[in-house]
Amino acid sequence: MALNGFLEFFQKGKTFRPKKRFTAGTIRYSLHKQAQASLQSGINLRQAVCLPEGENLNDWIAVHVVDFFNRINLIYGTVSEYCSEITCPTMSGGSRYEYLWADSENYKKPTSLPAPKYIELLMDWAEAQINNETVFPVSTDVPFPKTFPTLCRKILTRLFRVFVHVYIHHFDRIVSIGAEAHVNACYKHFFYFVKEFDLITTKELEPLQEMSSKICKD
Ligand SMILES: [Zn+2]
Repeated sequence: MALNGFLEFFQKGKTFRPKKRFTAGTIRYSLHKQAQASLQSGINLRQAVCLPEGENLNDWIAVHVVDFFNRINLIYGTVSEYCSEITCPTMSGGSRYEYLWADSENYKKPTSLPAPKYIELLMDWAEAQINNETVFPVSTDVPFPKTFPTLCRKILTRLFRVFVHVYIHHFDRIVSIGAEAHVNACYKHFFYFVKEFDLITTKELEPLQEMSSKICKD
């Protein structure tokens, strides 16, 4: 019921960018399927994020970064029409946190931006990294670059900020479309994953610390 409504909502084309997919027949595809299957079987999320025996850590991280990118993209898609320069003139998480955008192109100095602009730049940047085959090799014959773990930390740290903004400023919208359980499940999965591999600093996780301690305890 609620979940169906949520899925229908997605199918109406609310996403604003194509979903990144894995190529069938590749190791990443089977890892992706394996990760999905373990979630659907209802096993403990804390266990589901652990590296399966014999698998490569970078492959496992790559699969999760892409999955989280897709899922967070969908989640933001459901609130994006309520997130404007007027409702959200800064990329904040409540009054205590504001994120400044910086990149190597147009924002060399950290800059305060309206949340929708910040998130657009963030998602474009993350998508560009994921689609860059020298950074995220498609084939397992191509090795991951040495910078891969650092890059993934940065991607996940930035994606986390979308959770912060959605939870703190747009959670009423999530509740009104019946997606609360879905978003919480995605958040829990994300939280356990980054904790398992120590991919986001405690300081970065602070804005949602209280909520994490409530919903991420099993
Ligand atoms: Zn907003």
